[in-house]
Amino acid sequence: MAVQRLVAAMALLPLSSLSLADEPPLNVVATIGMIADVAQNVGGECISVEAMMGPGVDPHLYQASANDVAMLRGAEQILYSGYALEGQLGSVLENFATRTPTLAVAPASIEEDALITSQGAYGVDPHLWMDVSLWANIVPTLSDTLIEARPACAATIEANAERYETKLLALHEWVKESIASIAEEQRVLVTAHDAFSYFGRAYDIDVEGIQGISTETETGIADIRNMANSVVERNVPAVFVESTINPRTIQAVIDAARQKGHEVVVGGELYSDAMGDDGTVDGTYMGMIYRNTEHIVEALGGSLAPLPQALEGWASEWQLDT
Ligand code: ZN
Repeated sequence: MAVQRLVAAMALLPLSSLSLADEPPLNVVATIGMIADVAQNVGGECISVEAMMGPGVDPHLYQASANDVAMLRGAEQILYSGYALEGQLGSVLENFATRTPTLAVAPASIEEDALITSQGAYGVDPHLWMDVSLWANIVPTLSDTLIEARPACAATIEANAERYETKLLALHEWVKESIASIAEEQRVLVTAHDAFSYFGRAYDIDVEGIQGISTETETGIADIRNMANSVVERNVPAVFVESTINPRTIQAVIDAARQKGHEVVVGGELYSDAMGDDGTVDGTYMGMIYRNTEHIVEALGGSLAPLPQALEGWASEWQLDT
């Protein structure tokens, strides 16, 4: 009787919790979704991850709320991007680093010679997730970090990391092939701020941001005028708004180009510094890159490459029509 009850009770538990050691999931807090999602894919059921900044949130300007501080206080591992992406959070993160394992993921993962340097306070352009092959370098870093905290999960985490990395590298090739389908003279990406330099370098498309690397500076009339001139000269058919930025400046460029007799449309909203809504494919790192590529390729007259076999499972999981 007692045995039967035990068996019945075990049947109610998810299988995974039986296969884990006795430890509860590691409580991880990440600043941006592009780190939280990768960590979740790598850590699987051995960790539970919360992202501090949700969809549409601009990390350059973000300030910690009382809620965030409580969340950080409960964390066993804190992950942030670094390279000054989380400009306003620097001192808060430094404070927590003295009491909680805290990792700046990008500097710990990405070789210095792969970085794009920029002028001003930044030094390094922090938008590294835009090149999938570069961002894939955070996978082994996260794998090592999580295994250190949950050694009993090592085999699971290593297997997760390998599977996820394979998908990322397949996605990288797919983006490259898809962008290459755009005619060379139209292969230019005009956006509100300079978040796409790594994307441009990795996938061979010119990138022009109206604002600089950070959104902290104001856009001037001269910036708008210069960008409109460039749009007209290159006969650019579409420009893009970003989910984390007020579309006002992009609209001003469209209006200025129209005054010069050139019609340019909004080619859709790109995810620059935050992912899309939770529970949708756009709310994942891979989905964010996929959707950006789709918008860019369609607006600039290219055609999407067929998804590679390594991504078929992922696509059907999210019911993507491809
Ligand atoms: Zn940015």
